[in-house]
Amino acid sequence: MSNIYNFSPGPSKIPFEVINKAQESVKKFKKTGNSILEISHRSKEFEEILDEINENFEKLISLPKNFKVLLLQGGATFQNALIPFNVDLLKSIGCLVTGSWGYQTSQDYFKSFKNIKVLDIRDKEIQKYIGKENTDFSELDYLHITSNETIEGVQIRNFNNLKHDNLIIDMSSDFCSYKYSFNNLSYVYAGAQKNMGIPGVTICLVNNNFLEQDLVNPSYLDLKKLTNANSIMNTPPTFSIYIVKLITDWMIQMGGIEYFESKSKKQSAYLYNFLDHQSSLIKTNFKGEFRSRSNVVFSFLEDTHNKNFISDAKSIGIIGINGHRSVGGIRVSLYNSIDEQTFLYFMDFFEKFIDSNNL
Ligand code: PMP
Repeated sequence: MSNIYNFSPGPSKIPFEVINKAQESVKKFKKTGNSILEISHRSKEFEEILDEINENFEKLISLPKNFKVLLLQGGATFQNALIPFNVDLLKSIGCLVTGSWGYQTSQDYFKSFKNIKVLDIRDKEIQKYIGKENTDFSELDYLHITSNETIEGVQIRNFNNLKHDNLIIDMSSDFCSYKYSFNNLSYVYAGAQKNMGIPGVTICLVNNNFLEQDLVNPSYLDLKKLTNANSIMNTPPTFSIYIVKLITDWMIQMGGIEYFESKSKKQSAYLYNFLDHQSSLIKTNFKGEFRSRSNVVFSFLEDTHNKNFISDAKSIGIIGINGHRSVGGIRVSLYNSIDEQTFLYFMDFFEKFIDSNNL
């Protein structure tokens, strides 16, 4: 076990077991005698990797038969360009903005869609818009949301209750960390480098009904062609895809989504509870159900404490906890790979930091 405790928002900590398997496969992949780094994307072995990823998603998130898994390049950001190519631009689209990534998407969509409505609730009481009596979005053809805003630490896990049947969701930072239904989803995407692996591949789940007819697109921008080609229209990022296979194997072995959902509930509740008891010293962004379980964002009221906290943490191997450069403060990412021992090591440091500084 390494003595680095990585709480980065992404690229994030990779489980030890996955690193070990990847290491072996870099030297020699199965019986091929070849390294995984040299494997052909048209080989039988790579085809098996793709099939196994599909099977793993069926097991992990009960992916319905009318959804296909696509493994694309360009990161989650590229999706802001790809999606407008695949939707009739005269259709109406809404953007429900709860943080920086959703805002960025709305700005990109403005450049393409003609009929766009943005509901920006960043500084408003989220509960009023998407709580029990939530806003009716049903007049829109599509609605984009970011289920977890990685920078601000806002999470909408109850998107199945939103009054809309064709959601497009950026799930980059909470993919596969809790259970949900696919009933009102059209398209889901997530950069792999948080819960699902390393940079280079974006996991997309496409509802068949999202594949619009007769759109004339350059090949790589055509979701229908990409789906028909099972993601290998051109040379895909084979190693990044292989890591998705190892991560999904590991997730199943650990007990599936139920295990990770319960772990993330437990760890985030423990940390938020601790923070709430320090309210004379520490400010958190949100209270209640929209607090993110994936990225816990807070700051010491006194800025020197933020700096000391980050540097003291670093001196004992805790890294990746600085807040995003646009907001400052602290951000602790509690992704699937943060095991009990890593989490408790951080909490022990946090308690001692408060004590030893007489805070
Ligand atoms: N959406 C969300 C919610 C993110 O957290 C990020 C990256 N942190 C992005 C989009 C952009 O992802 P990428 O760097 O893969 O383009």
